[in-house]
Amino acid sequence: MKYLEEFSDPVLAGKLVEQIHATVTKPWAMMEVCGGQTHTIVRHGIDQLLPDGVEMIHGPGCPVCVTPLEVIDKALEIAAQPGVIFCSFGDMLRVPGSGRDLFRIKSEGGDVRVVYSPLDALRVAQQNPDKEVVFFGIGFETTAPPNAMTVYQAKKLGIPNFSLLVSHVRVPPAIEAIMQSPSCRVQGFLAAGHVCSVMGTSEYPELAERYGVPIVVTGFEPLDILAGILRTVSQLEKGEHVVENAYQRAVRDEGNPAAKAMLADVFETTDRAWRGIGMIPRSGWRLSERYREYDAEYRFQVRDIVAEESAVCRSGEVLQGLIKPHECSAFGTVCTPRNPLGATMVSSEGACAAYYLYRRLEAPAEAVTTGG
Ligand code: SF4
Repeated sequence: MKYLEEFSDPVLAGKLVEQIHATVTKPWAMMEVCGGQTHTIVRHGIDQLLPDGVEMIHGPGCPVCVTPLEVIDKALEIAAQPGVIFCSFGDMLRVPGSGRDLFRIKSEGGDVRVVYSPLDALRVAQQNPDKEVVFFGIGFETTAPPNAMTVYQAKKLGIPNFSLLVSHVRVPPAIEAIMQSPSCRVQGFLAAGHVCSVMGTSEYPELAERYGVPIVVTGFEPLDILAGILRTVSQLEKGEHVVENAYQRAVRDEGNPAAKAMLADVFETTDRAWRGIGMIPRSGWRLSERYREYDAEYRFQVRDIVAEESAVCRSGEVLQGLIKPHECSAFGTVCTPRNPLGATMVSSEGACAAYYLYRRLEAPAEAVTTGG
């Protein structure tokens, strides 16, 4: 399959691994921002092919994982109401809120539907004018444009019974928060290529300069990841810290102007809490004043719901790269994909799910003693 098999070529992968080994002279720690990249790394054992001392720290770029518990609880509260059709992508249905999930609401009679696009939810609203239809709009800069487009369409077509429960987050403020953490060990970033295909690269040079870290825009196939790592360690070895684009087949420096214009029209920047991490200033989007009537938080008056995280789950530390998933005592015992305690074990992009799926079941002995 073009663009998949050719970027998994084992011969070329071997050459890139050789180049990485030839380049590295000392230990380095770099973070892959996106959960999709984490899954490629763990699935193909890329981290195990790297020179001793070169560590991949798994970042917070999993949209399901960072959606705050309060927002999940708001979704549950809305979905349980009579007369509501609650639409979501399938991976949100098993994310635990405070004591239940959307599957439970559905099993108790709630009208919870899996859709494949926010526009599907808009169609449901058109077909059910006597119901309130809510779409759960979560994710990074990648999923925000279609959600913005759907609200724009709802307003343009005059569909009053549609609304969006919004919890969008942005990558650059998260990189800033990670670098400002006193326990930060990250020396370079593999930035998320799909995010940059929308937003471009203009937000990154200032971050690279301010924190002295190379930022390499990287794709998702094994060769993409290895090329991103090679460029990052090459910069680190030379003492450089600039932004490079190692995903040129998808990313232009200016990003996607049409998508950015839609985002600017429908959303406005806001402070946003990240699950397990906490509040990060100006790290999210919400519907702007012009589109406020389509905001489900206002329509259903669930803005005041607060929630308390599990004392057992350490997903916040996983998301900040402070521990590896198998260093959590619940990993693979009381917390499994079938019985998840935290979102990082549920999501197809979650680091805990990746470690479980690809059988990284035991923490190395030194990690047990330092992780905790
Ligand atoms: S293994 Fe489970 S309990 Fe531990 S951090 Fe991951 S999701 Fe949370």
